[in-house]
Amino acid sequence: MLPARHRSMVLMKKITRGTHRKVNYVSKLFQPQNVVPKDNKVKNEDCLSKSQKLMLDLGVIRQASAGAFHMLPLSERSLQKLISIVDDEMSKIDAQKLMLPLLTPGELWKTTGRWEDVGEELFTLKDRHDKEFVLSPTHEEAVTDLIASVPQLSYRQFPLRLYQVSNKFRDEMRPRFGLLRGKEFIMKDLYTFDVSQEAASETYKAVSEAYENIFRRIGIRYLRVSAAAGIMGGSISHEYHFLATTGETQLLTCESCGYGTSAENSVTHDCPACGHSFLQCRPGIEVGHTFLLGTKYSLPLKAKFTTATGKSDFLQMGSYGLGMTRILAASVEVLSLPDQIRWPIALAPYTVCIIPPKEGSKESAVAHLAEELYHKLNSVDCFRDDLIIDNRCNMTIGKRLFEAQKVGYPLIVVIGRKALQPTPELEVYHTLMDKETSINKTDMIPYLKECLLNK
Ligand SMILES: [Zn+2]
Repeated sequence: MLPARHRSMVLMKKITRGTHRKVNYVSKLFQPQNVVPKDNKVKNEDCLSKSQKLMLDLGVIRQASAGAFHMLPLSERSLQKLISIVDDEMSKIDAQKLMLPLLTPGELWKTTGRWEDVGEELFTLKDRHDKEFVLSPTHEEAVTDLIASVPQLSYRQFPLRLYQVSNKFRDEMRPRFGLLRGKEFIMKDLYTFDVSQEAASETYKAVSEAYENIFRRIGIRYLRVSAAAGIMGGSISHEYHFLATTGETQLLTCESCGYGTSAENSVTHDCPACGHSFLQCRPGIEVGHTFLLGTKYSLPLKAKFTTATGKSDFLQMGSYGLGMTRILAASVEVLSLPDQIRWPIALAPYTVCIIPPKEGSKESAVAHLAEELYHKLNSVDCFRDDLIIDNRCNMTIGKRLFEAQKVGYPLIVVIGRKALQPTPELEVYHTLMDKETSINKTDMIPYLKECLLNK
């Protein structure tokens, strides 16, 4: 018998280890799926985009009202992965994260003229004192007023790059395509302040590179095209698009030099970059937009800085948006099969799903291999807390594999018949490549790592 104090320490260690050994189980997952009777297809199926239908049917999102959606645990995990990528790339260009109120005083929007310009798409409301507010679709006014309200900053304190990830609102006439065009959506919006046009152009270049990195890490083929500044104002503007048949923007692209522009922005059909005589027209989903704004907001809202000679001058601004919920939906839209979600591996809610044997089957003798593999993988950085076990062992392996492929887990490991061999093998389904391989149990971790590297 150990002394009492020692005993309690051992117990403490066990408990601590216990909390680290938390396992994600499909049986615990809040994933309310739509059960659609086979003979009763959804009536308005034609109005749904592929991503909307799949995400609703498979319990990834749930509609709250027309154009507003609950982000359920699977989509929330995916969103958090996207936010981590964005945070990482933003920190590389010294952008600082903050959070502005969703309510912006209406008077600021009246000062810049956008209260009228945006018109009926702008969600407005009054408080009990009759004060008007905008439920913000974007925060140029709010952030510019913030900078104008603080003790005047010196030229030494620039460039200043501030961003947030938050909910945005737009009173859409016809919300559609789920997260692609809603009344409420999540955006990452970055606002930059510089002391000269040259410095603002440098910032524009730096942010554009960060955006390219973000899209490369997401892993979906994208197009950056020159765009019209529209009601945002300013001089230079670019849009980032995923190419998809449901895309609402027509893009003109040059096969010869890679130049692209939005069709509404085009005055010629010869390529303005290389003179090639044919531009191809294809639909795209806009997922990002960048603007060099000049003093469009700093002038009316009086956002100034102190120059090296002690004078005051207006700040040069830029505004850079990424539609976060839109990127998720557009990724699913681009990659998915008609009846199976496909996530880019970087944004999959869980990278690995492990399926243990059916209870009562011969293979159930090696059911422990599931949790054994889970804990081994969980100790590897690139898999930590990115794993789930489908422990609904009253269901056949086939049924659970079918569901795991529908939800789109990129790597599915099945503890099947071959796990009973003297040298146990497990089956790995590589969802994105539609490939199946049997892997020796001891080679499993290096193999799965390799799969991640070659995504
Ligand atoms: Zn060209």
